[in-house]
Amino acid sequence: MHMELSEGIAEQKRGGLLQHTSKRVRMIFSVMASPNRIDILRILNSKGPLTYSELKSLAGFKSKKESGKFAYHLRKLLRQSLVALNKSERRYTITNLGKLVLSLARQIEERSIIESGKMYVRTSHESIEEFNSHKIIQSLVREGSLPLELAQKITEEVENRIYKYQTTYLTGSLIREMVNSVLLEHGHEEYRNKLARLGLPVYDVQDMLTNVDNVDNGAEGLLFKTGQKVFAEHLLTNTLPKDVADSHLSGDLHITNPGIWSLLPDTVFVNVKELIEDGIDIGGKYLEVSRIQTSKEIDGLASSLSMMISLISKEASQEVVMDGLVLLLSKYSKNGSELIHKIANAFASSSIASKFTKTPTQISFRISLGSDTKIVDAIINAYKEYVRITPIPKIGLIIDHEKGKLSDLSQTLAEIITLGGKISFSRGIVSSKGVTNQVTKSSGSLSINLQSISINLPRLALLMKPAISAMALRKKDISDLTRRGLNPVLAKNTQYMQRSTVSLVLNLVGLQEAVFNILGYENNKEGREILYKVIETAVDVASKKGKELGEEVRICLTESDGSLRFATLDGEKYGKNSLVKTVEGELYSEGITIKASEIFQLSPKSEQISECNKLAKMLNGGLLVTLVLNKEAKIDDVKQAIEKTAQLTPTFRPLKEVSLCGECGYKDEKLDEKCPKCKSPYIIRNS
Ligand SMILES: [Zn+2]
Repeated sequence: MHMELSEGIAEQKRGGLLQHTSKRVRMIFSVMASPNRIDILRILNSKGPLTYSELKSLAGFKSKKESGKFAYHLRKLLRQSLVALNKSERRYTITNLGKLVLSLARQIEERSIIESGKMYVRTSHESIEEFNSHKIIQSLVREGSLPLELAQKITEEVENRIYKYQTTYLTGSLIREMVNSVLLEHGHEEYRNKLARLGLPVYDVQDMLTNVDNVDNGAEGLLFKTGQKVFAEHLLTNTLPKDVADSHLSGDLHITNPGIWSLLPDTVFVNVKELIEDGIDIGGKYLEVSRIQTSKEIDGLASSLSMMISLISKEASQEVVMDGLVLLLSKYSKNGSELIHKIANAFASSSIASKFTKTPTQISFRISLGSDTKIVDAIINAYKEYVRITPIPKIGLIIDHEKGKLSDLSQTLAEIITLGGKISFSRGIVSSKGVTNQVTKSSGSLSINLQSISINLPRLALLMKPAISAMALRKKDISDLTRRGLNPVLAKNTQYMQRSTVSLVLNLVGLQEAVFNILGYENNKEGREILYKVIETAVDVASKKGKELGEEVRICLTESDGSLRFATLDGEKYGKNSLVKTVEGELYSEGITIKASEIFQLSPKSEQISECNKLAKMLNGGLLVTLVLNKEAKIDDVKQAIEKTAQLTPTFRPLKEVSLCGECGYKDEKLDEKCPKCKSPYIIRNS
């Protein structure tokens, strides 16, 4: 009896609660019954908070007549606490309950598609939708520009197949595959190419994740590598003319790093003084600092310098040559040793992480000898300090000795080279890879070289025209993207495109091999005459074809990763003996190499030197001359070799293998088997 009573009371209580709950739930379900109200919730969820009139127009109640209808729906939502009004701001927001209702509505919708046995599709934007053939027609017309009638015909066939195959897990990409195969079957290859998906096979992605130790730079490097594949594929299948893409694939042309080809220039020449003193508005894109300010204080200047190095290194794939450092620092000549320390710190603290190619982008400061010796001294000593504390330096110096004496500094420079510093020598404005900047004769404003297309010389004749038109296309792509903000530091100088300071430089790879090994000429006077003829022709054709396109096109001989690829492809075709043997394998020669051990037997009249200088004069885009220093060379040997070479041929880059400890980064010319500092046996040899 007692039991019955208490149970009865509990029952009554439960019933009351249930009644109350179900009433609320019923009310809420009735709110959900109207698609208009669900729409309002959806809009507030994605765009809110909104004012009354914003919400009304976004929800599609445009005319005056509909005002009452909208007010009615909104009132219902407010009454059930699905929407709230912030009285002070007069804005409407969705409540947590509203969000719950919205998510429930979505789940019901998805589930009902599934339960109904209808086809549903997992889309690439992470949602699940009912299969709708109109969407296929739509994207065929929009993405592939198919005529409507054809789009309908193809879609119908795809739809039939989907039902026939009874695919259990329908995804957007699967439908795309079917569409493309139907297009191919009907002979619409061009449409298929427009609709293709760019990306990686599952296997490749898994492979990358398995071999993460092959990737530099952690997750960022992994993302970068993946992204590059998409852009490379896009370049070769959708952007470049077919004949050019084929020339690249068959090894007639080499497009360096197709993944960034349309995004970044290769070599940029800038004036660091202008960049820093004008201040750079980087629109808050990179750092919390949205404007690098000029500072009268040496500390401010040093941090601006370091930041500028970091920023601009992201906007070129090979090298940024900076002028104007001496002038920028001239105000601080009184600071003495503090100046040296601050510059060294600025170099060391800049973060050049950008590694668009196998080697990171190099930042080179061009230092003209012959003026302001105090500042020049300070910079060189600061650089030495930087090289000493940096295991593998990414900053380099280009010593322009056109107007000054090299012998005053050659001792310090030799020490720097021995420590693994990146020093090169020049007369005039040249990159460390020998590429010249002919556009701005003065060291004034910004100019850009696009040079990463190389021509496989043994197959020269037919290639100039497609190569040049590919470069012109690239210039357009890079200018467009830069103008639209992809490279903010360069974009600030948007007018450079109109001032035509972007020059196109074609690199000839395998020149000697073409003439001597494949064409079969002896390496004698007659053979070399042929070599000059080839260059003359190339320069000539380049300037003529360039004029037709309204571009300045020049010819150079420099380093490129095309050398290895060409050599591999041609080795199969012409035999291995057509190539030069190097330590790393078989390559085509790149530019001219001079051995330091032979330099003292040479004079300006020697054949090797006069040939080299003649080539340098003919190549209007520049010539890379590498001075190969002996591994064991002492500072004094290096000093004498660079002094002597500078007299023979003014523009060259010394190359010396430097040993450093792989554990602690300690560097010493005597470092051989074991690091004296940390006792590590892990010694890296770097050149
Ligand atoms: Zn060590």
